[in-house]
Amino acid sequence: MDKRDYYEILEVPKTATSEEIKKAYRKMAIKYHPDKNPDNKEAEEKFKEAAEAYEVLSNPDKRSRYDQFGHAGLHGQQGFSGMDDIFSHFGDIFGDLFGGGGFGFSSGFGGGRQAQKHVNRGSNLRLRVKLNLSEINEGVKKKVKVNKYVPCQHCGGSGAKDNSFETCPTCNGRGQTVRVQNSIFGQMQTVSTCPNCGGEGKIIKNKCPECQGNGIVKGEEIIELNIPAGVAEGMQLSVRGKGNAGARNGIAGDLIILIEEEKDKELERDGENLLYNLFISFPQAALGTTVEIPVINGKTELKIPAGTQSGETIKLRGKGLPELNGYGRGDILVNVNVWTPKKLNKEEEKIMKSLLESENINPSSDKDKNPFKKFKKFFS
Ligand SMILES: [Zn+2]
Ligand SMILES: [Zn+2]
Repeated sequence: MDKRDYYEILEVPKTATSEEIKKAYRKMAIKYHPDKNPDNKEAEEKFKEAAEAYEVLSNPDKRSRYDQFGHAGLHGQQGFSGMDDIFSHFGDIFGDLFGGGGFGFSSGFGGGRQAQKHVNRGSNLRLRVKLNLSEINEGVKKKVKVNKYVPCQHCGGSGAKDNSFETCPTCNGRGQTVRVQNSIFGQMQTVSTCPNCGGEGKIIKNKCPECQGNGIVKGEEIIELNIPAGVAEGMQLSVRGKGNAGARNGIAGDLIILIEEEKDKELERDGENLLYNLFISFPQAALGTTVEIPVINGKTELKIPAGTQSGETIKLRGKGLPELNGYGRGDILVNVNVWTPKKLNKEEEKIMKSLLESENINPSSDKDKNPFKKFKKFFS
C-alpha cells in the first residue's frame, strides 16, 4: 500500500505549529481509538497511521527530514509499527484520558487482516546519480530521462477498448470471495481476493489492442530531481509516484535515487569534514610558510606557522560540507606532513651535517612539547 502524506493524515497544513500537530493528533486518536471502534479494521489502520504521522511530525529532526525527502528521509530510522510503540509516546499527550494503563488489545491486534480492495501498484524504479563535491555542497537540480511504463494513451490507462467493462460475475463486483467451511471450531469464513478479476470487481470485455488490456505501455519521462545539499554515498531518496505506472489506472511506483559520490582528487570526505594531506619540506616547517590548499570550488591560502610539527592538524573552520538538515557545516582538516628528502646532493648534505651539530635541531631540545616524551608516557 502506498504511504500517505503525514500532513494529510493529520489534516494539518505543512506550516502547522507543533501545538497544532499535537491537537490534530489528539483529535484523530480519540476518533479512531480501538476502544471506540471495536473490530473496525479501517479505524485501526487510521489510528496507527495517525500515531506514526505524529511520531515523525512531533520530532523536529524527523520532521525536517520528512519535509525534505518524504518518507525516504526517514529510511532506517523508523523501526516503528507495533502498538507498543504507539502507546509508548501516548502517555505525554493523553495522560489519564483513557483511564490509563493497559488497553487490553496488544495481542491479537493486527491479526486476521481483511482482504482489501485491490489496487494495482507500479513497481519502483532505481536510478544511480553520481555527484561531485561541488554538487554535494550546493545541492543540485538534475533532469533525467527515465524509461518506464506509462499509462496507455489509447485507452486512457483503463486497458479496455472503448471503456468496455462488465461487473465480475464471480464476485458480483465485490472483488472478494467468501468461503464458508465447517470445522471442529464451528463455521469458518475465509475471505480472499477474487481469482477471476484479481480483486478489481470488474473485467474487461474487449482489451485495448495497444496495451493488451494492461493499461500501461513502455515509454519515457523527463523527471527533474531536486537533490538537497549534504547527501552522501549510499543514500537513497525517493521521488514519489515517478516509478512505473500501475496497471489499469493503478498507483505509480516510486523512483528511488541512489546517491553515488565522485571521488575528489584532493579532498577526502569524512562525514561533513574534508581531509587534506599536505606535504611540506623541513625548512618550510621550521621557518613557517604560506601554502595553497584546495577547498570546494577553488583554492585558499593557508599560513603554516614556524615550528609546525609533522602530524599536526590545522582546521579550516566551516569550509567543509553542509549538514543534510541545513544547520551546520563541517571543516577542512589539513594534515601536515613534513617530507624527508630521499636524496641529497653534496652541498645539501653539507648543510644538513652542519645542522646536526646545532642544539635546536635535536628533538630532545624541546623540553615541554617533546612529542617523544608524550609517546613514552603511553608506552611506559
Ligand atoms: Zn490501452
Ligand atoms: Zn471478481
